[in-house]
Amino acid sequence: MERDDIQRYDRQRRVRNGANLDDLWAQTSVLLVGVGGVGSPLAQMLHRSGLGKLTLVDGDRVQTTDLHRQILYTAEDVQQGLPKVRAAKRALESQGGRSVVETYEGHLTPRNVLDLFTGHDVVIDATDHVAVRSLIQKASLQTGIGWIHSAAIADKWVAASFNPPGSPCYHCWVDPRMDYYPLGTCETEGVLPASCFAASSAVMRLLTDSFISGPDKSVQQSQTRKILRGSLATGESWVELERDPSCPTCSDQGNTSKILTGKPSPIKQPIRRLCGSGSLETWFDEDLDQIESALDHCGNDSYIRTPWSLRIEDPSGAISFYEDGRALITGDLAKDEKQAKKRLAQILNI
Ligand SMILES: [Zn+2]
Repeated sequence: MERDDIQRYDRQRRVRNGANLDDLWAQTSVLLVGVGGVGSPLAQMLHRSGLGKLTLVDGDRVQTTDLHRQILYTAEDVQQGLPKVRAAKRALESQGGRSVVETYEGHLTPRNVLDLFTGHDVVIDATDHVAVRSLIQKASLQTGIGWIHSAAIADKWVAASFNPPGSPCYHCWVDPRMDYYPLGTCETEGVLPASCFAASSAVMRLLTDSFISGPDKSVQQSQTRKILRGSLATGESWVELERDPSCPTCSDQGNTSKILTGKPSPIKQPIRRLCGSGSLETWFDEDLDQIESALDHCGNDSYIRTPWSLRIEDPSGAISFYEDGRALITGDLAKDEKQAKKRLAQILNI
């Protein structure tokens, strides 16, 4: 160990089992998805404490409304219109230390998720995007790489770790149908810095707990998982999560539909009607390239493709696919949910 590192991490090593924690910490790679309200203080803590490698994934740019809680960014970053990952890397590297920072400027999609997972020991979801969370859950089940979910909104926060296979998965806890129902966002509900810092601190506690337990890997192998929920009004509480034997995702009878199958999977996600517009919304696991390839495969070339969307004009309406996995059905086609589902299956030959 370099002399500077010996001094820098000395206080961490002096804690009971701290040397063990520090050695493991220095060899660990974390993929952090989202460098916003929770991800930015978390990146700061992981980097400061000497994590081996930290890969930051985010497609957003720094905005003025981020500055009250996203501690890595400055007003100058806003003026320069800097992507968050670039501003974060610069801020982290200016602090020195042994941690290596890598970045991916863009969103996590079905196309890149497995490549981004490769070479990492743990994945942390610090986004407020339900489709991304669902994608991480699927990639985790497929690769066996554990992940930690974290989120903060208004005066509340949550953190939970999932280590497949064998232990409870995210959908043993949250009904998959809930993934596709509207949740509040920081824009609609607001968010307090205290909630973000509490969520990021909870992730640090979950990670540190599993490392500091040393050679006893009972935490990783446990059949139950702990979920931490908190709010400024009621304080924090730990909830024990058990595996759901009829979980729609991880049980034997469940569907662990794989990512990147090359052909869209049958439409298992619910179709829901959007308030006001009369349009229908559903979700796909596949990215736009895969949807396009399925259309090409069945000889359908009447679509318009942009980098962000793919639109099919149908005599009875239109179907638009977006890069985050969302599909929007409009026109007469949206009048009947069963018919819409049937037409989607016909168009994609699934
Ligand atoms: Zn499950």
